[in-house]
Amino acid sequence: MNTSTATLQNLRTRQTNFYKKHKNQRISVRIQHLKKLNRVLETREKDIFEALYKDLKKPAFESLTSETIFVQKEISTQIKNLKYWSLARPVKSSWINFPSRDYLLPEPYGNILMISPWNYPFQLAMTPMVGAVAAGNTVVLKPSEAAPHTAQIIKEICTEVFPEDWVAVVEGEVETASALLKMPWDYIFFTGSTSVGRIVARAAAEHLTPVTLELGGKSPCIVDASAPIKTTAKRIVWGKFLNCGQTCIAPDYLLVEKSIKPALTEALIEEIKKAFGADSQQSEDYGRIIHSKHFNKLIDSLKDQKVLFGGNHTAENLFIAPTLVDQPPLDSPLMREEIFGPILPILVYEKESEIAEIVNSLDKPLSFYVFSKRKKFIDSLLKTYSYGGAVVNDTLVHFGNDHLPFGGIGSSGMGVYHGRHSFELFTHLKPIVKRSFWFDLPQRYAPYPKSLALLKILLKRL
Ligand code: NAD
Repeated sequence: MNTSTATLQNLRTRQTNFYKKHKNQRISVRIQHLKKLNRVLETREKDIFEALYKDLKKPAFESLTSETIFVQKEISTQIKNLKYWSLARPVKSSWINFPSRDYLLPEPYGNILMISPWNYPFQLAMTPMVGAVAAGNTVVLKPSEAAPHTAQIIKEICTEVFPEDWVAVVEGEVETASALLKMPWDYIFFTGSTSVGRIVARAAAEHLTPVTLELGGKSPCIVDASAPIKTTAKRIVWGKFLNCGQTCIAPDYLLVEKSIKPALTEALIEEIKKAFGADSQQSEDYGRIIHSKHFNKLIDSLKDQKVLFGGNHTAENLFIAPTLVDQPPLDSPLMREEIFGPILPILVYEKESEIAEIVNSLDKPLSFYVFSKRKKFIDSLLKTYSYGGAVVNDTLVHFGNDHLPFGGIGSSGMGVYHGRHSFELFTHLKPIVKRSFWFDLPQRYAPYPKSLALLKILLKRL
């Protein structure tokens, strides 16, 4: 189902007019709406969980902990801090302008377009929307067509809370996204694959629109021999197989010190069985692959690979068991592209230079994980490599701290959000110098002084 270009253009015009009229809207109005959004999320919680189950067979526990709670936390952070963040921010003045008052005046960007993915279809659509609205912008949000039940509930919730001229949810497929991208926006926020990120960046360049790209990549997980095997395995299994491996920050592949590979593999298998039982297909806590196109791609990537554990799958219900693969060649699809499914390659290293060979042969990842007790080793890895964000001795948990900015680098994205970082992202800080009339440095006006020596000394000190 796509929306006609005329309807989209009409929506865009209405949002432009709304923004012009309400640009200096009181902060209390935004807060009122965010509070209402929070109430509606509470009352519709069951429906949201149901939609997520229909789209991804997501267990209620995961829907709460990785979807709705995130959005509610973001709402309360914004409500709590919005008045303070929106104040003018004084900065040090320059002597050359004496006397002056210099400050930054926060201003919303205006009309924002958001395009979101299907893997955490509620949270990844609503969290940036909350930040953008808190900062005073209008939003047109296109959720992913691959999670239609969640897209529908997002639309219902937003329609109940906001007038469409302020926040509108547009359901649709690629055609709708393309039509939206052709229009001029004040900001574009995109979450999805690196390949579509390139299309979005190109479209944004056409109108010189600033853009945030939250993309994916191959996030390495390095384990050295000093790491406690059992806890390490437990935390890797949790981070990798949550949402059936369809998590942008999931460990994509393991790089394990050779001496502990057998023990770690055994521990991983044990933890998988503990989490999802002997037959993960029967587990209520194990999800499914989003659609058959992605399912087929994942199964194809297993061809000619040595499967250490799992590998069984059922096309009818899009089930792929948690799977461990032994040392796939670096030029195989498993090691060339982001996996984004429940398949975990295990590679080994003996010397640290071998880590560099593999990590540096791939694009800059979204996340970087290291399990070790050796401080020197950890610090050296953290300093040496480039990545969106890192966790030492765990997986995924950096996403949950909204004091930390979240985003990628290079082909895993650009721009960061969450909490205050969202407010900053969706706000243009206008630098302002407010002068007075009572004093002027006479030398600044022509005819200029002939000797520059004193002037040079003065200017250097300013
Ligand atoms: P996708 O890029 O296929 O789709 C994302 C959105 O873009 C959807 O709404 C879709 O309709 C739209 N879209 C698709 N093709 C388009 C085109 N040609 N022009 C314009 N819009 C288009 O991504 P996906 O399959 O939904 O999600 C998986 C990817 O997203 C993975 O690579 C994953 O790593 C990444 N991801 C990143 C983050 C993050 O926060 N960095 C979070 C979740 C997912």
